[in-house]
Amino acid sequence: MNWITNFVRPKLQAFVGKKEVPDNLWETCPKCSQMLLKKELIVNQFVCKHCDYHFRITAKERLDIFFGKNYIIMDTPKIKPDPLNFKDNKKYTERLKTAQKKNQTNDSVIVASGTINGKKIVTAVFDFNFMGGSMGMAAGEAIVTACDFAKKNFLPLIIFSSSGGARMQEGILSLMQMPRTVIAINAFGKLNLPFISILTDPTTGGVSASFAMLGDIIIAEKNATIGFAGSRVIEDTIKEKLPQNFQKSEYLMEKGMIDLVVHRKELKTKIQDILDFLVA
Ligand SMILES: [Zn+2]
Repeated sequence: MNWITNFVRPKLQAFVGKKEVPDNLWETCPKCSQMLLKKELIVNQFVCKHCDYHFRITAKERLDIFFGKNYIIMDTPKIKPDPLNFKDNKKYTERLKTAQKKNQTNDSVIVASGTINGKKIVTAVFDFNFMGGSMGMAAGEAIVTACDFAKKNFLPLIIFSSSGGARMQEGILSLMQMPRTVIAINAFGKLNLPFISILTDPTTGGVSASFAMLGDIIIAEKNATIGFAGSRVIEDTIKEKLPQNFQKSEYLMEKGMIDLVVHRKELKTKIQDILDFLVA
């Protein structure tokens, strides 16, 4: 928030009448605090034109950017919701229902098949808006479904990760998704087809500690946070000051953890080039 949002905008709204300036017309850039016209932001693939900040986007927005209209969302197996009957200050089933209503998706991962540059691929996309992109049984099932479909149809696999880690409300069943997804990726890998792992902001916890780091090619979007534990926890544990860009894409690239850092607007072309090179 800045003086434009707090002061000028309400005045303008009062002047032109509220209906003509709906709230969702503008977005404020979290990095440079500039006001951005939503329509322009969509055209610019949700990248701030002033400071190049890459906004966190929904799975559907990601699919639209990546495929245009050339994709089909696939069904994933239904799982038993709330197996532990979990409750903190709210019931897990209630949290799930709210997230499903807000995001219009079943859980945090969408699986789709589509075509880019004439090549068919399978993709799984995490949605950080859905309970922090956390990986529970449904997300694990979705990743396994994507791997199996890619294997059966002999197609390259691309996974866009964006996750805060495990779904704590599912306890150990959530942690089990780490080895499960790794096994599925390894089984897919036997076909010698590429698995391209795209790490977007943020990719942390159980997702970064499992399949996301197993890509044949690992690409990170610019300035994404990628790590396991949060930097404050690490600092407190090792009692040392961490570098300023610690756990950022560029830092990981420098240390050899990932293969490429790519600007969102160049991502599609880059993936097309890689697929042209690796897949007949
Ligand atoms: Zn900005």
